[in-house]
Amino acid sequence: MDTKVKKIGVLTSGGDAPGMNAAIRAVTRAAHFKGMEVAGVRRGYAGLIAGDIVDLSVRDVSNILQEGGTALFSARSKEFCTEEGMQKAIANCKKFGIEGLVVIGGDGSYRGAGDLSTRGVPCIGLPGTIDNDISSTDYTIGFDTCINCVVDMVDRIRDTMRSHERCSVVEVMGRNAGYIALHAGIATGACFVMVPEVKSTVVDVIKKIEEGRAIGKTNFIVLVAEGVGHAEELSKYIQDTTGVVTRATILGHVQRGGSPTARDRVLASQFGSYAVELLAAGKSNRVVGIRNDQLVDYDIQEALAMTKEFPLDLYRMCDIISI
Ligand code: ATP
Repeated sequence: MDTKVKKIGVLTSGGDAPGMNAAIRAVTRAAHFKGMEVAGVRRGYAGLIAGDIVDLSVRDVSNILQEGGTALFSARSKEFCTEEGMQKAIANCKKFGIEGLVVIGGDGSYRGAGDLSTRGVPCIGLPGTIDNDISSTDYTIGFDTCINCVVDMVDRIRDTMRSHERCSVVEVMGRNAGYIALHAGIATGACFVMVPEVKSTVVDVIKKIEEGRAIGKTNFIVLVAEGVGHAEELSKYIQDTTGVVTRATILGHVQRGGSPTARDRVLASQFGSYAVELLAAGKSNRVVGIRNDQLVDYDIQEALAMTKEFPLDLYRMCDIISI
């Protein structure tokens, strides 16, 4: 054994994302490699409060690498945000011998991990969300799988739009961020991408469609981030204004599921293994991320105070080449 830490816990919290299982597997196996035991906390912080905790051996995490969702279940817990709830969670960490915790989730989960860390339970946060809206990392676990799913769906929609020379407005997830819409927009050749980070109007969309039509474009994909919304209204407006038959599709939860891509599996495995290194080295109150292809870790409060620049250059490029 090359660490004083005897046992760590792992949990998934907030919205699930493909690749979380790869992270759970990596945490479990990297910890056992270092001689630590692993406790799987089910249903996020709610499970920590309820004592819904199971031992994880290296074999217990077999065959989850390729599965979407999270084998540990995920939940949101209001009780955990109260001091009483937090103390129950801490008491269970003591009871189950958990000396460090890997929390896979978004900003809310990071806040919880920060609170636990300051109360004596060392925590390491891993970015797990399809939205890619976590400032302390270039990429989050689940984003790549999500955009590949959107690309697949939009390609299918385009087949029928081409046959009927129609327009399709497709609303994608992302909450207040436009990363899914932007990346999927580039990869599907959407003629217009509406994101919360860039001000644009229906007039801009119509202009782009009319410009395309003038040079022979016959079918159109408009991607709208959910933070902009109103896909149905936009669709009707496009049809009424241009005369092009237009359909709205809200992709919904299909974007959150599915087998993780190789990229998400690799990223999640790296993050999970790195988190174990940090806990084994006695670190606490850190989050893991990737910056310019390098694994990095930051103080949780510092990470939460960071902002993420929306890649306007990519957005402009998308607009230029989608004519
Ligand atoms: P997602 O990206 O899916 O929203 P998230 O981790 O941001 O993921 P939240 O619902 O915001 O999801 O947070 C998950 C859980 O973390 C909450 O249910 C709550 O238990 C805990 N949490 C959130 N905010 C705080 C906070 N300020 N202090 C302590 N715990 C928190």
